[in-house]
Amino acid sequence: MCGIVGAVAERNVVEILLEGLRRLEYRGYDSAGVAILDDNNHLHRVRKTGKVQELANALEANPVRGSIGIAHTRWATHGGVTEANAHPHFSAERVAVVHNGIIENYQNLRRELTADGYHFSSDTDTETIAHQVDKELQQTNDLLSAVQTAVKKFDGAYGTVVMDKQDPGKVIVARSGSPLVIGLGIGENFIASDQLALLPVTRRFIFLEEGDVAEISRTKVSVYDQTGAQVQRKVIESDIQHDAGDKAGYRHYMLKEIHEQPVVVRNTLQGRISEHDINTEVFGVKADEILAKVKHVQIIACGTSYHSGMTARYWLEQHANVSCNIEIASEFRYRKSYVHPNSLLVTISQSGETADTLAALRLAKDLGYMASLSICNVPGSSLVRESDLAFMTMAGAEIGVASTKAFTTQLTGLLMLTAAIGKHNGMSPNQLEKMISALHTLPAKLEEALTLSQEIELLAEEFADKHHSLFLGRGDQYPIAMEGALKLKEISYIHAEAYASGELKHGPLALIDENMPVIVVAPNNELLEKLKSNVEEVRARGGIMYVFADKDANFQSDDTMRVINVPHVDQIIAPIIYTIPLQLLSYYVAVIKGTDVDQPRNLAKSVTVE
Ligand code: GLU
Repeated sequence: MCGIVGAVAERNVVEILLEGLRRLEYRGYDSAGVAILDDNNHLHRVRKTGKVQELANALEANPVRGSIGIAHTRWATHGGVTEANAHPHFSAERVAVVHNGIIENYQNLRRELTADGYHFSSDTDTETIAHQVDKELQQTNDLLSAVQTAVKKFDGAYGTVVMDKQDPGKVIVARSGSPLVIGLGIGENFIASDQLALLPVTRRFIFLEEGDVAEISRTKVSVYDQTGAQVQRKVIESDIQHDAGDKAGYRHYMLKEIHEQPVVVRNTLQGRISEHDINTEVFGVKADEILAKVKHVQIIACGTSYHSGMTARYWLEQHANVSCNIEIASEFRYRKSYVHPNSLLVTISQSGETADTLAALRLAKDLGYMASLSICNVPGSSLVRESDLAFMTMAGAEIGVASTKAFTTQLTGLLMLTAAIGKHNGMSPNQLEKMISALHTLPAKLEEALTLSQEIELLAEEFADKHHSLFLGRGDQYPIAMEGALKLKEISYIHAEAYASGELKHGPLALIDENMPVIVVAPNNELLEKLKSNVEEVRARGGIMYVFADKDANFQSDDTMRVINVPHVDQIIAPIIYTIPLQLLSYYVAVIKGTDVDQPRNLAKSVTVE
């Protein structure tokens, strides 16, 4: 989501800040800005709506130099997308602030601060941080304690960096809910909302914990926990490879990431399954002890991760003999839910910083779950640190806002989790062996599915003028239909709905006409015949269908139905394989429509606000 970068150095930091923002650019944002303290202690601010490049152009036209600075890409939550609402925000031309997240009680604070004589020049919640810090500075004149006192007044989630013109040489940072990471250099130090922003300048990081406030100068970093006590946080050496400029010859990151799936799924499997078995330790050292006791699984996730969790519910109940519920994190966290005995809480998130999912995990700790496990793509993320067990997907950095390879690696991890729980819960060695062999075939089958690319590119032409579409699936392919619909909505802006095919006659059939293409994900199992009847129901009402089916499923193309043959695979891995053509379809439709594929409008990656 929105990004923060800050630097305290001896050299000019403007280019470091801009490069940091560029590296966070893929997450989606609507405006960007920097504040720089120059060598004469003058505070300069440049803000622009639109891309980071607009900001870079403005800085090129009117160069600013300075060795201390903070920068931000904003994803508006409070106040429209305007230059006045873009960060950094100032108070009294003295305090400068950038902020990720939401200050929920900003209206009260704003009223109080206005009564104190502060003038607000934006509609944001963020500006209250700047004025509140300034107000505290009038009491203490010490930036660290001013921030420590100010944050006690804030409800909600924030990652914030504060600079004081009258106290140069340092920035104060505070984290509650939104991630912040300190980058350690030699004679210079940095702060960012994600380590990716700082990889050009350092690989040594301190991940701040909830409630931490830190003082960062050129030569020193001091961290204080929420009680105000000074603490030592672990320094982590990052081995993440990330070259944000590298699309490897593909036109978009999304297409590159779609094509990376055979490799990253192979990486996700590597060393974790043997010929016939699964190494349960990949979930954590205590995995066997915990998984052996599991009788119920509660999955919590949002968006695409929710769809991988939904697929896992079919797998876990069918193969691992445990009951399973799945719920959207933002719903789960605000209702009273029943906790089954011996329940494992499974959270799924690409970034491990999804605000709703993280809040749900924290809530669950008090609810009496036996243990928690996270399926995540970012080592060291909050979700991973705060869960008892973790499975790391090996998708690598996912830049496209619309998730692709994170989804298929999550599914791979969830299938392995099914095997690991099933092993302790009555799954026969034969069944386990079958599942493991199917997993072994995954990378090659994904490769084969990608060869459909050209056929789907042609097919995409037929969707470009459509405004609505329907996706149908049954059984474990129903969540795949939902994910297909989400992908099409996200990047092509075509309205798409997914239904379990059996539901068609209960309402959505009313929508069918020649302007409503129907995309069908056909299984090749006992539900196939049922699905064929659903297809006939659509045909009888003049619908145009696109059926993704195993060639053995005996669907024939005709005037009203176009059949796309998907490689024949073991049924257990079919949801993972059928995801590929649907991703390709959304991608090519979006390209034809000319949308911003990697950064679709209104969306952001790694949703760190509620
Ligand atoms: N709530 C703040 C705003 O709307 C920060 C949003 C963000 O995280 O970028 O300005």
